[in-house]
Amino acid sequence: MIRDVLSCTDYRTLSLYIHIPFCLKKCFYCDFFSLTDVSAMELYIDTLIEEMSLLKSINTSWESVYIGGGTPNLLPEYLLKKLLSSVADVAGDSREQTIECNPEFINRKQIKLFSDYGINRLSVGVQSLDDGFLELIGRTTKRKSVEAAFSVIERYWENNISVDILANRPISHIYGVINDMDFFIKMGVPHISVYGLTVEKDTPLYSMVIDENIIFDEEYASQEWFDISSYLVDKGYNHYEISNFCIPGNESIHNMRYWQMEPYLGLGASAVSTLKDKEGRIIRVSGKRSVSDYCAENNSFYNIDIIDNRDFLFEFFMMGLRTAHGIDIERFKSIWGYSPDFFIKNMIDQAVKQKKIITDSGKLFLSFDARAVLNKILLDILSCIDSFDVIPIPRWP
Ligand code: SF4
Repeated sequence: MIRDVLSCTDYRTLSLYIHIPFCLKKCFYCDFFSLTDVSAMELYIDTLIEEMSLLKSINTSWESVYIGGGTPNLLPEYLLKKLLSSVADVAGDSREQTIECNPEFINRKQIKLFSDYGINRLSVGVQSLDDGFLELIGRTTKRKSVEAAFSVIERYWENNISVDILANRPISHIYGVINDMDFFIKMGVPHISVYGLTVEKDTPLYSMVIDENIIFDEEYASQEWFDISSYLVDKGYNHYEISNFCIPGNESIHNMRYWQMEPYLGLGASAVSTLKDKEGRIIRVSGKRSVSDYCAENNSFYNIDIIDNRDFLFEFFMMGLRTAHGIDIERFKSIWGYSPDFFIKNMIDQAVKQKKIITDSGKLFLSFDARAVLNKILLDILSCIDSFDVIPIPRWP
């Protein structure tokens, strides 16, 4: 149970992630922890609710809640009600409460239920409107079900919304992304996440690539990143993180907190938390990828790793530089005792001269062009950090 890792119960703010690992069918590219066997669904939700009741003892302000999966809106109405009422009980005051949805299960009743229990943001996993591409990657959704879902959303949903779109499509479907985005831009969807399709080992997509049934064009992929981002920026969206775009003011609070290295607690199978233990050390807590282990009593379900100061410092740079907002220099100083350029002094002058790294208005961030070579910049940062014999102990969170 999570009580074993909640040794420190004093956080100024926290975010809560809840993992619902059930799906109707496994998509061919998916390596998230999700199952099509739903026989333990009710027991799983009851276990989550039991864990959530322990959270009332934490002295914190819950800033955001994110119910992800899997497919949370696959849950039958009575289980959704149970889960959402327990979330409302613990973290009902959170500024942002998101639930991930697959379009084919969205209906008027479900939307009303979300509103009734305080959910104020839907994250809809559309991925594409191209039926051929959806079939190729093993999605159960069809364009028709997306259109039906969005006609319900347009009429009955009054809160925030985001859609996920897949880019980096195989050659036969390469030109669909802009068309798909247009559908949602015209509808005024204020937040669009565009993720590149990745080929993960041990997935059916991997075998399809090995057997050459699917071919990708790597050269087009890097051009596509610029095309997508220019197109959305031109339409008024702010490119506020490598894969995320929004009409200004609609940034995801939950994800921003994650990129800004604020503490968060993850509940459920495969969920991850970044917290501190009672000695003040920063720990990463990972739930195992097993529903039966999660629901079993007296089981050591979570793996706990102490994060080394050096690794945590690198994560700070890695996460902060993903965003247009970058790293807040004053906050960084209050945690690390020095400003960010102290740790990267071997590269900062040149990076500033080449206009890759910018410091402005108390922030340190990457230029738009430099974000395309983020990995190379991170390698340089890593070697700067490695040149220090000792890294200070962070005063976190
Ligand atoms: S719906 Fe999402 S979590 Fe479920 S199998 Fe597909 S990609 Fe994976």
